[in-house]
Amino acid sequence: ATMPPLLSAIANAGRHGVLVKSAVAMERLGSVTRVAMDKTGTLTEGTPRVAAVQALPGFGEDEALAAAAAAELPSEHPLARAVVTAARERGLRLTDAADFSSVPGRGVRAEVGGRTVRVGSPTALLDSSDGADDARKAVAAYEDEGRTAVVVLIDDAPAAVLALADRLRAGAPGAVARLRALAGAEPALLTGDNARTAARTADESGMTDVRAGLLPEDKVAAVHAWQREGERVLVVGDGVNDAPALAAADSGVAMGRAGSDLALETADAVVVRDEIGAVPTVVALSRRARKLVT
Ligand code: ADP
Ligand code: MG
Repeated sequence: ATMPPLLSAIANAGRHGVLVKSAVAMERLGSVTRVAMDKTGTLTEGTPRVAAVQALPGFGEDEALAAAAAAELPSEHPLARAVVTAARERGLRLTDAADFSSVPGRGVRAEVGGRTVRVGSPTALLDSSDGADDARKAVAAYEDEGRTAVVVLIDDAPAAVLALADRLRAGAPGAVARLRALAGAEPALLTGDNARTAARTADESGMTDVRAGLLPEDKVAAVHAWQREGERVLVVGDGVNDAPALAAADSGVAMGRAGSDLALETADAVVVRDEIGAVPTVVALSRRARKLVT
């Protein structure tokens, strides 16, 4: 017997390094009319590095970095891994942290050596704090350079601003162009990162629709808004923060290597080999299979 078209498409996707979880998922991929892509870990490699540390009055660089790394140790966020790596490269000793908690799209919090340490987005951590002018200045300077700025608070006082730099995936511009052609619409960049860094990544990827500073629920709202207009939405993401949008999407595709467990479980397909170019390839495979299904 010959294999049904959708099953051979799944086998074919596997050869391109994409695990499609069901025939229904394979079938839906080809019907997408809108594409939304996450930034960190999806369009970028997702292995950012700490490029600079700006200590704030009353704190030392190593002190703030060691505290931040201790708090980030349990987190699987790419920024967290970068902070831990930077501390280790400086030979800093990491104290055990207690009472760890994390809020997707915002950052982490933990008790480190009797002090409360928070690490996360400038909007989440500097909004209401007084005396944060030095911190805000450092954030603006880093973001102007296209870096992602992360703030460290120790017992509610701004202790340092870290600048993190990530690299665009080599295949990103090509994948964006092919997805634009397949969906017949401008792909959108949805990110929790700041507007300036987002604009730079969009520019390098050839994207014009950029939405920055989004929380996980904002990504879901964007998906639902398109669906109300009758669009069938493909979301490509990797993080815990993308899981709700991957679930809301008609087709959710997760980047496998950097991807969080939750994203991989929620997605309809997983890019096991770390090539973003495989995403348009499976959409095209689905299109071909759908033409053969009667
Ligand atoms: P993206 O949508 O680009 O993948 P996220 O939603 O994961 O980004 O994160 C948005 C922002 O929240 C980050 O740019 C960072 O400022 C902050 N953030 C989230 N998690 C962490 C963390 N573990 N450590 C530091 N900052 C974090
Ligand atoms: Mg991400």
